[in-house]
Amino acid sequence: MASPQDFAGYTPTWCSGCGNWSIGRAIMMSLAEQGLEPSSLNMVFDIGCSGNMNDFVNAYAMHSLHGRSIANAIGIKLARHDMHALVIGGDGALLGEGGNHFLHACRGNHDITVILHDNSVYGLTTGQVAPTAQKGYTSKSTPGGIIERPVSGLQLALTQGASFIAQAFAGNLPQLAKLIAAGMTHTGFSLINVLQPCVTFNKVNTYSYYLQKSYQLPAEHNPHNYEHALAKVQEPFHQEKFPLGILYQAQDQQAYHQQLAQLEQPLVTRRRTSDYAPLLEYFQ
Ligand code: SF4
Repeated sequence: MASPQDFAGYTPTWCSGCGNWSIGRAIMMSLAEQGLEPSSLNMVFDIGCSGNMNDFVNAYAMHSLHGRSIANAIGIKLARHDMHALVIGGDGALLGEGGNHFLHACRGNHDITVILHDNSVYGLTTGQVAPTAQKGYTSKSTPGGIIERPVSGLQLALTQGASFIAQAFAGNLPQLAKLIAAGMTHTGFSLINVLQPCVTFNKVNTYSYYLQKSYQLPAEHNPHNYEHALAKVQEPFHQEKFPLGILYQAQDQQAYHQQLAQLEQPLVTRRRTSDYAPLLEYFQ
C-alpha cells in the first residue's frame, strides 16, 4: 500500500508558510489513506502557484492551459471513468479564466474533484487581485480597491448543480485530508474550497484572519438539505464567516457519465467495432 511519501515528487518551491504546503501534504495523506496508488488517478493542474504542484506530486498528471484544467479533467474522466480525476487550481484560474468551465462542470455533475486554492490573489504573477477578493481589496492591480463584488465558488457550485460542496482551511490539515477523501469517494462533481493564505501578497486573508472568522459546521447541519446549504454558502459574503466541513451533499444524483449508455465501459477499453482503414485511405 502506498504511503504519503510515495506521492511526493520534487521538493516544492512555495514561499515559506504558504497554505499550499499543507494542501499538498493533505492531498498526499488523503490519497494514501484511500489506498490509492500513484498510477490509479489522474490529476490536472491549472496555472498558478498551486499548479506548480504538478512537479511536486507523483501521479499521472498534466499541466493545463490557464483556466482549462476542468475541461481537460472532464475529457479524461469520460475516457477513464474507472479512475479518479482531480483538479488543482487557484480561484483566479478556476473562477476567472476558467469560470465558464467551472459552472458547466457543476451543471453536468461531472464526476471530478476540484480542490480550489482560494487566496484572493494571483500569487504566481506577484499579487494581482483575483475574483474572490472582497470588494475594496487593494492590490498592485487595484490600488484604489477592487470595484467588483467577489465571485463565490461555493454559491456558484451549489446553484449550478454541484452535488458535493465542502470548505476547508489550509491551517487544519487533518480535516482537509478527510474532506478531500470525502469528495473523491462521492460520485459526481465535488468541490473542496480551501481557504489558503498567500503569506507573501495577501495581508488581509491571513492565518489569524481565518482562525478568527472560520468555524466548524455544527452537528445539526444537515448536508443533504439544500436550503440549509444555501444559507451557509452566503455567510462568507453577508457575515464574513467561513463555515468549515461538508456544506452540501446531494443524494441519488447520477453523474454525467452514468447517464450515457455509450460509456458503460471506459472509452479507452472499448474494442474497436469498425474497420477504419478504408476511411483513412479515402481521406489521405
Ligand atoms: Fe504561496 Fe503566495 Fe508564495 Fe504563491 S506567492 S507560493 S500563493 S505565498
